[in-house]
This record gives sequence, C-alpha cells and structure tokens, in this order.
Amino acid sequence: MKFKILTYGCAMNKADSECIAGIINEKFNAEIEEYFVDDVKNFDIDEEKINSGNNFLIINTCIVKQPTENKILDLMRKIEQRQENGGIKNVVICGCLPAAYPEVSARFKFSFIGTNVSDINKAIEETIEGKKFVQIEKQKNKVSIPKFSFNKFISIIPISEGCISNCSYCSTKLARKNLTSYMEEEITQTIKKAVQCGAKEIYLTGQDTGCYGIDIQCKDIQCNIVGLLEKISEVPGKFKARVGMMNPDFALKFLDDLIEIFKNEKFYRFIHIPVQSGSNKILADMKRNYLVEDFIEVAEKFKTIKASISTDIIVGFPTETDDDFKHSIELIKKIKPDLLNLSKFYIRKGTIAEKNIRTKRWKHDTKIAKERSLLISKIFREISIENNQKWLNWEGEILIDEIENNILIGRNFAYKKIHIRGNSNKEDNKDLLGKFMNCKIIKARKILEGEILEKF
Ligand code: SF4
Repeated sequence: MKFKILTYGCAMNKADSECIAGIINEKFNAEIEEYFVDDVKNFDIDEEKINSGNNFLIINTCIVKQPTENKILDLMRKIEQRQENGGIKNVVICGCLPAAYPEVSARFKFSFIGTNVSDINKAIEETIEGKKFVQIEKQKNKVSIPKFSFNKFISIIPISEGCISNCSYCSTKLARKNLTSYMEEEITQTIKKAVQCGAKEIYLTGQDTGCYGIDIQCKDIQCNIVGLLEKISEVPGKFKARVGMMNPDFALKFLDDLIEIFKNEKFYRFIHIPVQSGSNKILADMKRNYLVEDFIEVAEKFKTIKASISTDIIVGFPTETDDDFKHSIELIKKIKPDLLNLSKFYIRKGTIAEKNIRTKRWKHDTKIAKERSLLISKIFREISIENNQKWLNWEGEILIDEIENNILIGRNFAYKKIHIRGNSNKEDNKDLLGKFMNCKIIKARKILEGEILEKF
C-alpha cells in the first residue's frame, strides 16, 4: 500500500501533512508521497497516478480562496465518479474544508477528519474496512506529534493554531477557530530534536504568531512571542528559524524587542506582516485591529536591520473605492515589500462579508477585483526588480534548502531566494542540500542568481 498526501494551502497545512505522514509512518510500513499544491492554477493532477493500484489518498484541504475550494471539490467529485469504475477506493479528506464546513462530509462517500490529525489512523483503518469515518474536530496539540519531513533539512513547527481576531472576510477562522498556543517547552524540545536530526531551517507557523501565549501560562518565559523566540535562540546547533505570519498590531506591540531578537543569527531577518489594504476605512471594514500607519512603522523599523518584508494585499474588497485602492498602491510603492501575496477578494461562506453581501449592504464586483489585481501585480513586478538590484554583488552566507530542476535554491540572512546553477551530476547537487555556503550574487533581475565562493 502506498499513501499519497495531497496538500493544499499554507505552511500550517503543510505542517499538518507532516504530522499525518508521521502518524501513518509509525503505524504502517508503507511508502508515503506528498504532492504540495501551493499554486492551484499550475497544478495538473496526474489522475492516472493517483487512481492506480492499491493507493490510499489523503487530501489536506484549503478554503482560503474560492477557486482553490472549487478545484478541490471538483477533484473530489472526479475521484468519486471513478470509484464506480475501479478508481481509488481509500480516500480521507481532512483540513480546513471539513473543519469550516462539516456539512460537506454528507455529500461524499469518503471519510473525513478536520484538523484533528491524530485521528488519521482511525480514519484509515475504518476506510480500509469499507466504512465511512467522520470525526471533525480541532487538534489540541500538534507540537509533540511525530513528524515525517518531506525535506529533512526543513522542519515546520506550529507554535499555535487559530487566532484572537475576527476579520470580516476570513474563512480560516471558521476552520482553525480561537487561539491555541502550544507550551514553550514542547516547542523548544521539538526544535532541539529536529536540529539533532539534521534540520537546518525551522519554520515557526501559526495563523498569527504575534498573539502567541496570550491564552496560556508559560513556565519560564514571558508568555508572548518575544519570550518564545528568546528561548528558541538558546537551542544549540546551527540553524535558521523563519517566523511565520504576524499581524501588524502584535508586531507593533513588541516592535523593539522583536528587532533585537531578529538580530540574533538563529533567525532569518524576514517578517511577514499582512497589511491587506492601504486604506484605514477598508481595514476597519475588514475588522483588522491596526492602522496603515502602524504597519508602516513596523515595516520601516524592520528595514533598519535589513530585514525582508513580506505582506499581503486583498483587492476588490466590497467597500473598496478607487480612492481606497489608490492608497493600497501608494502603500506598496512606499514600503516596496520584498514579497507580496496578492489576493482578489472572494466571498467566503459564513463570514461577516458574505452576510453583508447577501443582505445587499455591500456589493461584490469581480471585474473590478480582477482589474485591480492586474494593476498592482504590474507595479509590484517593477518594485521587485528594483529591490533585487540592490543585492547585486552581495557576498555572504547562504543555506541551500531546495533543488528545483537542477537549480540550487539558497537563502541568505534576509531569506532572499538565490538561484545557483547546479552541477550536471544531480547526485552531487543533492549532497549540497542543507549546507551553508558562501556565495556572491552575480545577476539581479526578476530573480537573484549567485555563484558559490566556498563551502563551510
Ligand atoms: S487574524 Fe484574521 S485573517 Fe488571520 S486567521 Fe485570524 S481571522 Fe483570519
């Protein structure tokens, strides 16, 4: 039997898939493969492969965007139709789709769990016996679950799940619910073990890492993100930790302490602060708990330590006027982020925005969202080249964390992605994965290209 895990969505979902794979691996002596789908438009599912033989398919779902959800539902329908003609029988659906909308489980013959990954083996066993297993819950603790890393040099470690906000457009909240922070001791122990097992890069994930600790009593740290990061900085070994998404209100609250801790070489100088709009009126309608000025203060301060800034923008929010949109453009031009996750607004069932549109208080215009998305993408492409050019001739240490089509992907202290032409012998390239090296950036356009100066 072979297990295939199809993972949609964010780093948190990827972490859940690693937990699922770890739990399966302990119980079943089977091969496990993961297909990671971070850009659903470019994903061409090889259905023959998925449907062949005695495979077990687990689909870890995402609902953050309507097209992603539609694509997943289409795939589920196709698989169900094929079951009648000898297609794959053993299927478990998990993740945010059933967690936010449990009623979906009644529409399919498959087994379902939510984010309660530790129930995966029960679901598998019952499914193999030909039964339908449905238990949709939230997992209490994920840190200490055994993980199966698909890239042994990268360890994804959730520090919390859920958040304390109630953003009017967000369906993630329906799935991941209120904040559950994990205990600092368990987090640091898990990181220690991962580093001992060879991990060089640690992704600390959560829906909003900035609110870590608000819901728990910590034993020996100040119970917040700063206390946790300070503790993580004491973990022995050479590794780089990337701190996941942090809302601007919390980043501002802890700004000076965060700047100090990000200077520690155990952390990438990389901050993901999703601003979502350049208009305070829209931020209020989105029920975000900060002002544009707060975001600017955080971003500017992080720039003083040469940190990379990643942010998110939603265009075409139902109350967004041309003027509001102009403010988003101005903000992007002012801050010049290194990464921009741009989304068109989508109506997500069960959210405040959906209710306001249904009751005709707000109006949703998909055409406007599309036009604005194209415009802001074009502007960002230029900013991105301008940002990259500042890195030309930079020399310093990088960590090789991926190989894509014989290109080595390295990350420098600011988590900048640097492409290095690999050796024609693919095996030699594999040996370089997880290695720290000295490199020089020799080309800086849409992508940064570098050459190796020396291995450490
Ligand atoms: S902070 Fe807002 S956008 Fe993020 S998960 Fe929570 S409710 Fe959703």
